[in-house]
Amino acid sequence: MGGKAIRANNEPTHYRGQPGIDQPSKATESGGLVEIALPLPIDRGFTYRVSKANRVPPVGARVVVGFGRRRMVGFVVGSVAEPPRGVRLRPVLEVLDAEPVLSDTEWRLALWMARYYVAPIGLALRLFFPPGATYAVGRGEKRRAARRKERLHVLPLGPLPPKEEAERREALGSAPGQLRAWEAARLLDRPIERGDFCRRVGVSEAVLRALAGRGFLAVEPRPIVRDPLLASDAVLPVVAPEGALTGDQQGAVGTVREMLAARSGEAVLLQGVTGSGKTRVYVEAVAAALESGGRAIVLVPEIGLAAPVVSRFRDRFGDRLAVLHSGLSDGERFDAWSRIRAGEVPIVIGARSALFAPVGRADLIVVDEEHEGAYKQDETPRYHARDVAVARAALEGGVALLGSATPSLESRANAGSGKYGHLRLERRIAERPLPAVEIVSLARRRDRGGDPAKDGATQVPEPPEIVAPGLSRPLAEALEETLAAGDQALLLLNRRGFSAFVQCLDCGWVAECPACRISLTVHRDRPRLLCHYCAHDEPLPDACPECRGIRLDTRGLGTQQVERAVKDLLPGARVTRMDVDTTSAKWSHARIYRAMQEREVDVLVGTQMIAKGFDLPGVALVGVVSADTALHLPDFRASERTFQLLVQVAGRAGRGDRPGRVLVQTWLPGQSAIVAAAGHDYEGFYRHEVEQRRGLGYPPATRLANVVVSGPDEESVAGGAGAVDHYLRERRLPGLRIVGPAPCPLERLRGRTRHHLLLKADGAPVLDDALWDLARREETLLASADRLEIDRDPLSLL
Ligand code: ADP
Ligand code: ZN
Ligand code: ZN
Repeated sequence: MGGKAIRANNEPTHYRGQPGIDQPSKATESGGLVEIALPLPIDRGFTYRVSKANRVPPVGARVVVGFGRRRMVGFVVGSVAEPPRGVRLRPVLEVLDAEPVLSDTEWRLALWMARYYVAPIGLALRLFFPPGATYAVGRGEKRRAARRKERLHVLPLGPLPPKEEAERREALGSAPGQLRAWEAARLLDRPIERGDFCRRVGVSEAVLRALAGRGFLAVEPRPIVRDPLLASDAVLPVVAPEGALTGDQQGAVGTVREMLAARSGEAVLLQGVTGSGKTRVYVEAVAAALESGGRAIVLVPEIGLAAPVVSRFRDRFGDRLAVLHSGLSDGERFDAWSRIRAGEVPIVIGARSALFAPVGRADLIVVDEEHEGAYKQDETPRYHARDVAVARAALEGGVALLGSATPSLESRANAGSGKYGHLRLERRIAERPLPAVEIVSLARRRDRGGDPAKDGATQVPEPPEIVAPGLSRPLAEALEETLAAGDQALLLLNRRGFSAFVQCLDCGWVAECPACRISLTVHRDRPRLLCHYCAHDEPLPDACPECRGIRLDTRGLGTQQVERAVKDLLPGARVTRMDVDTTSAKWSHARIYRAMQEREVDVLVGTQMIAKGFDLPGVALVGVVSADTALHLPDFRASERTFQLLVQVAGRAGRGDRPGRVLVQTWLPGQSAIVAAAGHDYEGFYRHEVEQRRGLGYPPATRLANVVVSGPDEESVAGGAGAVDHYLRERRLPGLRIVGPAPCPLERLRGRTRHHLLLKADGAPVLDDALWDLARREETLLASADRLEIDRDPLSLL
């Protein structure tokens, strides 16, 4: 847990297992000593004394204390009867709350997370407060007053007659900044604060003044609403109103209503094929929760990719919705948080951290695309928002509504066992068919597993000609036909960059990251070699550093290369790319999406980003350049991820009036995930994969924890992992199996060597026991430079 470097003057006390910790509202006893949890990666509380002048704060209140040379805001987690001997206790400097600041259930949720994920309580508590305002000190009132003030806003430009538009564009031709600002203002559908506008469009205020001076733009004072996404919606279209609910949708919403009324505290899985109207069910379920004065939290995997979903909610609920996203400044986040806490907005939508918004009690928690990996936090506490949502609903008597076309195996198993409810939407809206999926085998022979007759998938007997990098003849022809018919196409390749790696043809040298033991990816937009893990970059070499040879070859396709191949193949086509490299600027994702929607783009090449949430009626063809990118990873979820990605991306086709077509290029045409995805056969895949996992002892058949030892020195890390292993085996915990220790598949990352042990257990309690035991012994088992990371219910073992 990495807290060893931190030392306090005060004697630490272990808070776990102390009586009183589960009762947040209980006032601490007199004696004036309190135990404080601080927002640090440190697994213990600290004793402070409360001076006579101060009231003794209750458990769950925030206080300001000195820690080392810093002042910090901490949480009262208990009272201390006996002062620790031999230390001079430091005083509590300020008591911020007379009452506990979290609700009883929020407090208990934080405790549950700390225990389950083996994390310091201070880090779990921190999730409940806006970042930057960690344990925010009560400046709320001042800020709220400021919020009512007026500020200058850029007003939307109405439509212009074509002639005038052309003239203005011409007049602005020599001033690119002004042109950009003018075009952005044309896209607005509501006023946007001037500073926000400049920041997002990337122009100075002088540019706005110049435009206003020419009469091309209006800037006026308006009351401020500090939420850039609200403004960014301006560049998003308003969705057409939807018709009445289908019978299936009505049934699903009806069940959620009953659960809400019963305050059951239960979870329900909404399993619905792509385009079956799940989002509409979420919207209606939220409306149902609000009818009786309730609150709702809507979680999406990545807010940046969720613009279509957010606008559906915004259209329906307008200002009753707060959007939490990473684009918010600390101040904006604090504002949103205050408004939610004050009960001004009953709906919160956001990425996983929105789960901790201060709604008091969440009557409904929607988890959209519950199978998505983005719900897992990759630092302590390593929580999974779907699982914490289920825990929160159980604590508060709320409903957790988990939706997906491709549920995680865990959730599907829980629905099967009755732990979760199970709702199904088996048909697309308007009886649209699911798109036909054709497998294009790139393999020379077919004997790589699978029975073509049984697979039911179309297979090409001879491997097709490759007409351009990444494009077989069938895919190239399908692209041409699609564009000739005036339709759009998506091309998926889940690898960004130009080529996967660069290799010397003479000696076999491959360019690797100096900090990570992985190969560097070749990028051509800005010609560089890039590490996709630590972002290290270096120039492309002219010669091999090992043998001085100059025959350097690049291997493995990336999105940049496919984009170029499509442009070469179809010179007239408008081709755009969507991956991490083209969407790093704020709202660029929404801009590309809009360009697709407006049919300004014919072919969109992209990584998994294009597989998610797109609802574009113009897309008639989806091409998967390689279905195999994830399959060879040494990870037990490789097959599940491949299946999910293929089904999701196939689901982007045929959402309009014309039936969609999907072509999947693969070297493994018989692989179970690929065959099942081609048949839109979730249940078949689930049954097969669950059996495989049972055989190998992986979830959902078992409970898993990944214990990673990392440090700068390889020998020390190996020794530490050995010590952990030895210690656990000595304990002989029944029902616990230990796999390893072994180097992690990504053995060296960011300058640290990593070894891991995989703990498999039949049930949760034995894992609790083993993991806490390890956490407490970190200092004795490991060398001081090494770290122990515990990942409970890991999504990836890399
Ligand atoms: P999913 O979330 O399951 O992929 P969506 O909720 O996005 O499905 O619905 C797919 C499409 O069908 C969307 O364009 C949506 O506007 C439309 N739609 C959803 N429900 C209805 C309905 N009851 N009547 C008409 N159109 C609907
Ligand atoms: Zn060489
Ligand atoms: Zn690196």
